[in-house]
Amino acid sequence: MKLICHACKYEVAETRDLALPLTGAMFVSRDPAHGVPAPWSPVVTWEYMFCPMCQRRPFLDPAPDGTIIMNTDSGIIAVTQKGIVKDEDGDGFIDLGAGVAPKPSKTATKVAKVNK
Ligand SMILES: [Zn+2]
Repeated sequence: MKLICHACKYEVAETRDLALPLTGAMFVSRDPAHGVPAPWSPVVTWEYMFCPMCQRRPFLDPAPDGTIIMNTDSGIIAVTQKGIVKDEDGDGFIDLGAGVAPKPSKTATKVAKVNK
């Protein structure tokens, strides 16, 4: 699933195991075969993630609970404390009350994972 810049629609990076808090390690090269680098250092947090093309933040600033909404090649998603919530019906709205998986136990690895 690729992150698409909210501001300029540039294809920023391939995502990997998105979760909160976001880190640069969750965004890798969108085209490693052609040497395109990952956009950010693996250790940075969302405050330091800017689009390589337009220099704006490529996703919406976090909601008070930390939820971050971003545009991807699979549609709009919300990265929440409980996992990823997709815009299932494609109407541009995300129902954060529905489809949220329960908080994972310590033994479970990932729930509601929609990464390719
Ligand atoms: Zn951009």
